[in-house]
Amino acid sequence: MTKLVGFHIHTNFSDGGLSLEDVLFMGIIDGYDINAISDHDTFKAFDQTYIQEEVQPSLKSSFNTELKPKSRAVFEVPYTWDNSEKHLDVIQAIELTTCYHSNVQEEIHIIGIYINRPDDEFLSYLGDIGNNKLSVRKLREERFASMIKKTNSYLGTELDKDVVMREIVGRGCPTRLHLAYALRRDFLNRGNNSDLVKDVLKRFKLGSNIPSVRKITSTIIGNNSPIYEKFPLGRVISTEDAIRKIIELKGIPVWAHPWRSDVYNLESKLEEFIKYSDGRLAIETQHKDSKNVQYHKSIDFCKKLAKKHKLLLVPSHDFHGRPYEENATLGKRYSNNMIRKIENAYRAITR
Ligand SMILES: [Zn+2]
Ligand SMILES: [Zn+2]
Repeated sequence: MTKLVGFHIHTNFSDGGLSLEDVLFMGIIDGYDINAISDHDTFKAFDQTYIQEEVQPSLKSSFNTELKPKSRAVFEVPYTWDNSEKHLDVIQAIELTTCYHSNVQEEIHIIGIYINRPDDEFLSYLGDIGNNKLSVRKLREERFASMIKKTNSYLGTELDKDVVMREIVGRGCPTRLHLAYALRRDFLNRGNNSDLVKDVLKRFKLGSNIPSVRKITSTIIGNNSPIYEKFPLGRVISTEDAIRKIIELKGIPVWAHPWRSDVYNLESKLEEFIKYSDGRLAIETQHKDSKNVQYHKSIDFCKKLAKKHKLLLVPSHDFHGRPYEENATLGKRYSNNMIRKIENAYRAITR
């Protein structure tokens, strides 16, 4: 037996393309059992006013259902699927950008699933409430403005930060995906045959067609591009503090996409993180859709480490949705056995 689950979903409060309502609609239409909403550095999707004023009326008018509190950090949406009664569990979660420091600073993402609503001090650090000039949201806006400047001077485009913020980022927090989308829109407006587009495609060896948002993210504004700007890691929470915060919020800390991290000290990092988490650390695993052999090896290595250290595995799908990803699904099917272990870990904390 299996369950259809998405444990790593972004909405348009960070850099997902869809609103929480759209995500829930997708979950209902596709017959999902569990959706965890894990936006980058924001808990806004769980704001009560937003849920009451926007999410509930949409659910009511489209599916005659609603989001009901189920347990400490879970809501449920009852719905009919294939002529039977079902529930979509919606889990409170967050994906924190953290700074790991050994010899060099490294950006590590830690997801907290099943977390309680953070305290006001932490919400202010994120930039969800108040006007904290040092919040993560402000950091993202500064970095975004700087990357737009570099894009214009390096590619010759004339992107206007305020227009991009208004038309593309909206209520989200600006990330590279938004910039990639803004660039793609700009290229499409100019057309394949414009000198600027031809020049950019040639410089980045991208063939003759305007690339997808994903491709632009990994090439034109990718980590090795002169446009790329590292996240100012000195100003974000350390990995240790992030894990401890998630424990304090009664969540399960999950090391997101550990296969993206440097392999040479992966295990020693893992051992450290386990210590900070009182043994509660989980790590992400993934269906191997990609054809990239190195990527498969990295996921297998992480799975081996998880087994050795008896860690909980949490499926990752890192859903962003349209228009940033075409035809993406919220998650995948995983065995009941795997999902039960995650739910049991939540129950053990909640009891
Ligand atoms: Zn991430
Ligand atoms: Zn993510």
